[in-house]
Amino acid sequence: MDKILTCSLNENFIKNLADFIERDFLDNNADISRLAIVFEGKRPALFLKKVLSKRIGKSFFSPTFFSIDEFIQYTLSKKTHFTKMANLESWHTIYTLARKIAPEVVRGREQFSQFLPWAREISNFVDLLDLEDIQPDSLKNIQASASIGYEIPESINVLLKNIIIMRDAYHELLSKNKSFSRGFIYLSTARAIQEVSFDEFDKVIFSSFFYMYKTEQRIIKHLYDIDKAILFFQGDENRWPILKNTARYFSCSIRPEKKKENNYSLNLYAAFDRHSQVSTARTILEKINKLDSTVIILPDPDSMIPLLSEIGSSAGEFNVSLGYPLKRSLLYSLFEIIVRAQKTRKGREYYTKDYIAALSQPLIKNLKVLSDYSATRVLVHKIEEALLGMENTPISGNLFLKLEDVENDDTLFQLAIETLEHMDIKASVPEMKSVLKQLHLVLFTLWQDITSFHDFALSLETFLDTLVRKSLVGSYPMNLKIMEKLYEIRDELENISFSREDFAKEDIFKIFQEMLENEIISFSGSPLKGLQILGMFETRSLNFENVIIMDGNESQLPKLHIHQPLIPHDIIVSLGLDTIEKEEEIQHYLFERIISLAENVHLIYEENSQKERSRFIEEIIWQRQKKKKAFAIEPIPQVSFSTEVLVTKREIRKTTEMVEFLRRQPYSATRIDTYLRCPLQFYYKYVLGFEEKEKLSEDIEGKEVGIFVHQLLKDLFARFINRKPEINQEFCAKFPEILAEKFETFFSKKKRPDLFMLEKVLYYRLNRFLAFEQASEERRVKKILYLEKRFEEQIKLSGATFDFTYTVDRVDEREDGSVLILDYKTGSDALRPQQTSKLEGMEFKRESIRNHIKSFQLPLYYYFEKKKYQEETLNAALYNLRSLKLSYLYNKKGNEEKLMPICLKALDFILHEIIDPEKTFIADPANERNCKHCPFFYLCR
Ligand code: SF4
Repeated sequence: MDKILTCSLNENFIKNLADFIERDFLDNNADISRLAIVFEGKRPALFLKKVLSKRIGKSFFSPTFFSIDEFIQYTLSKKTHFTKMANLESWHTIYTLARKIAPEVVRGREQFSQFLPWAREISNFVDLLDLEDIQPDSLKNIQASASIGYEIPESINVLLKNIIIMRDAYHELLSKNKSFSRGFIYLSTARAIQEVSFDEFDKVIFSSFFYMYKTEQRIIKHLYDIDKAILFFQGDENRWPILKNTARYFSCSIRPEKKKENNYSLNLYAAFDRHSQVSTARTILEKINKLDSTVIILPDPDSMIPLLSEIGSSAGEFNVSLGYPLKRSLLYSLFEIIVRAQKTRKGREYYTKDYIAALSQPLIKNLKVLSDYSATRVLVHKIEEALLGMENTPISGNLFLKLEDVENDDTLFQLAIETLEHMDIKASVPEMKSVLKQLHLVLFTLWQDITSFHDFALSLETFLDTLVRKSLVGSYPMNLKIMEKLYEIRDELENISFSREDFAKEDIFKIFQEMLENEIISFSGSPLKGLQILGMFETRSLNFENVIIMDGNESQLPKLHIHQPLIPHDIIVSLGLDTIEKEEEIQHYLFERIISLAENVHLIYEENSQKERSRFIEEIIWQRQKKKKAFAIEPIPQVSFSTEVLVTKREIRKTTEMVEFLRRQPYSATRIDTYLRCPLQFYYKYVLGFEEKEKLSEDIEGKEVGIFVHQLLKDLFARFINRKPEINQEFCAKFPEILAEKFETFFSKKKRPDLFMLEKVLYYRLNRFLAFEQASEERRVKKILYLEKRFEEQIKLSGATFDFTYTVDRVDEREDGSVLILDYKTGSDALRPQQTSKLEGMEFKRESIRNHIKSFQLPLYYYFEKKKYQEETLNAALYNLRSLKLSYLYNKKGNEEKLMPICLKALDFILHEIIDPEKTFIADPANERNCKHCPFFYLCR
């Protein structure tokens, strides 16, 4: 029986291996359950099993399958008892040894959390020395040179001078604790292999191996020498230096018998960004019938989510198997928020911005604490609204807050309960309080008083248990994998030897975050059905008819880990550990292997100023050019999207319930004006009740200044109700004091250093306003009738009655006996109807009414106030506090008699259009400025 078998890259490896097993074992009635089959990874075993069971056609005792890691651990466990060491334990062991053996290395990084990046590097280096079985003699040279001094920081020279002693002490500790690192498992197995027997197996078939560590070679070579191992390679040693080395080591030749030309059809696509890459992949998939024999390879895991969202609904069954960085997950971002909230808190007070961010995180605000998810969501929204000042409760507007202050704010619970009642959900104050306490527990309380990894592990467990039981985390398989990993990390933290030692809380968080940052989750679906979405390494030993490779750019293909290692590169090279060269060859081999047997190859890359096409793709193109003896190859399609400016005609039909609701709704000038500008905006705002999200900000918005000025003027002039406003010396002398006091109360929660500027500007403007009030002929006021008063009224139009509410800022009786309604304006341009002559030409259509009437505010004030002041001459005006200009509803006495009927007719038209079941709420993008500031812009487009 051959001990070395080789097939070429364009042969189906799994089929060839199955042929070999059939020919040399099954056909000879050998018991294949006495075979061990070792692959580099786990997935190929599933494919081989499927092929074997098809060929055997009945139930059978399967060979034993191993990945190489499993096989090495299995082998060592025959010799000694051990557990696999957790990374954190290994880093801490390195830290402890460095402090003892070479304290200079730790100088300036005395805390474990500070030394962690170094510990990780040193541990990786020692692991590599072990995997590659680097002998102490080779290290002695390094030590000797380090004593003279490499041109590197002295602390690294110190580390290198002590590397042998550090490595030995590390091994001694691992052996003593029976807790082994990966490198030490391989090294110990290589050292012990001669003493291990494999009587349970007739043969061990090492399948499709490419690069082998020195320890792997030693282990496999021993089994090969005692006739236990069969090595089945794919590829030609003349093409791949790695295979040449292996052939030399095993004194064999690795050359396939059959050689045939690659015959795949090559399709190249130049995309311009990730989005266009995934949409290209979708277009390619749409043309493929056999998705079962199709693979999409993602060298960059960041493409996974965009790809799944692009093809998720159209690709039918698919399986994802690739290493995905945990730090890209929703759970990681939740931990980031939790840690940030702990970092920014002052004593027991949390920074409101972080508090809101934590509560609003999707996994949290959808926790099912009561029987309905909505209870948590509504409560979180109410808290958010209160903190942003949209609802007025004891916690409103605070920049820092205590958890108990929120828990004791019953107004919040009442607000939430009222909203829930509208949704037919019953909840009580104690129940809502329990929801909030649960949220506070998982987001804040659990993490407040941690002093050890043991404490942290307990908190993490409670946190994860709560998410598993009460959140939607389980609805997504991807999250489940991440949860599984987090539970593993919890166990790791609980079981590390220093679990109960005291650590600063910040250090615990830092170490935990570092652990998560480097964690890769492997998604491994069932690979036997549907489209496969794989990382490059997950394709090992597999073949597909259609191969789509995305991210065909340098930096991803190959993806080389060129970081700044602690150990200088020339030292790594002198030890024969140059991983970069090997990594490139391994990835090149995987790339060439997967495309060689395919029928259709689709390579997608990005073409833009920041990205270069992969060297692997360049090579293919070059080979094709050579073959054709021409520089021209088939044109590469440039991916492009045709973009059309959407002529937005979004519209919403009215339901009967909507019409009923619209009839009963109270209206206001603002609502009517909103409808005038855009019916769809009116629908979002007043029918669906969507609100513009306020931002918690230390900045001061114009709206807030407006509210402040209105409140201040109300308070200042309240003393003059029913009498003449005397703006005399005494009043003017008191004004700065009143302004300062009110300013301090209103803006105290905004801790901005430049607040005094705003106060100065307001003082200047309002002083001018008071002077104008005192001196202007236009402002001869006999008495102030009322200030900031809200009214509820009704208006009957064409047989229908509509409820209205309105609030007037101020109504004056002037010295000439007339009455003037005033509406203060602090900012934007004020809108009032055009004069009668122009209104007379107005069409009764919403657009025309919008352009002529502009705003119903003054006509409505006039209409309602006229009922009270029937005998008096009445007018209404917008009073601009900046320009001190008054814009009157009508300019000439008598004009109102013509103007008001037109305005009322227009109002009648608009209100009846609003309740007309046949009229849709249509988007009106005519006013660009309105759309630009529209909070529903993205809903509408
Ligand atoms: S974006 Fe423009 S058209 Fe769309 S709802 Fe808002 S205002 Fe109307």
